[in-house]
Amino acid sequence: MLRPVRLSERVERFFARTPTLPPATHTESYALGSREVVLVEPATPYEDERHEWVAWARSLESQGRSLVALVMTHHHPDHVGGAEFLARELGLPLWGHPRARNFGLKLDRELVDGETVVLNGPTNSQWEVLHTPGHASDHLCLLSKEDSTLVVGDMVASVGTILIAPGDGNMIEYLHQLSRLEKLGATLALPAHGDPIENPSRLFRAYIAHRGMREVWIAKAVGMHPGADLDQLVKVAYADTPVEIHPIAKLSLAAHLEKLVVEGQVELRNERYSLTRAPS
Ligand SMILES: [Zn+2]
Repeated sequence: MLRPVRLSERVERFFARTPTLPPATHTESYALGSREVVLVEPATPYEDERHEWVAWARSLESQGRSLVALVMTHHHPDHVGGAEFLARELGLPLWGHPRARNFGLKLDRELVDGETVVLNGPTNSQWEVLHTPGHASDHLCLLSKEDSTLVVGDMVASVGTILIAPGDGNMIEYLHQLSRLEKLGATLALPAHGDPIENPSRLFRAYIAHRGMREVWIAKAVGMHPGADLDQLVKVAYADTPVEIHPIAKLSLAAHLEKLVVEGQVELRNERYSLTRAPS
């Protein structure tokens, strides 16, 4: 496949190999802006790929465009593996959500929900910052005010699935943010893994429905096996997924159960789950 790919006057796409969750193998970066440009996802930690990434950035400069900053959608290693190196190499500041600092990332500018990144050029380009926690607490999306293109990071993907792991991940917030994105009616989503997605609202709805269906299976599994732990429940609630995937499915399961506990449907005692007894 050729890289980079020009998607519009304001968006160019470039992918690089990263240590990401299979079956995905690469992370997509995006150059936003027609003259002033920000580069989203300084992702690759690999030397050969960083070299290509720098060459891509320099090729934008040689077209008379001026690089303004590197933008991080969130702190996961397959998104920021090149951040410090590329910032130094290209002499660019790093922008991201303030919570990225909790994960040891250095920030030169904080991007917060509701603010606008303005990029000047023959075609002006304004990007609204959306803070979309759930997959990661510092997750950001960027929405084009001109044509409703939406940079979605790891909120959805066209290759692989999005893992919500308890701890920094939060299923309630993730589902809330997915429905927020769905309501935007974006024309095109630019994910960090895989090809651009046209009319992504359908995909956001499908993700929400898929998680809802899984939650029903999980609640059923807990009802059938009161007092079961995660190892026992994953076999029942994820019977449809290959056992090799179960260690990862267990993280997802735990995130769903955390939601069900918060919502009062499930009780957790000594790492064992039961349905909450209805008050008599
Ligand atoms: Zn991620």
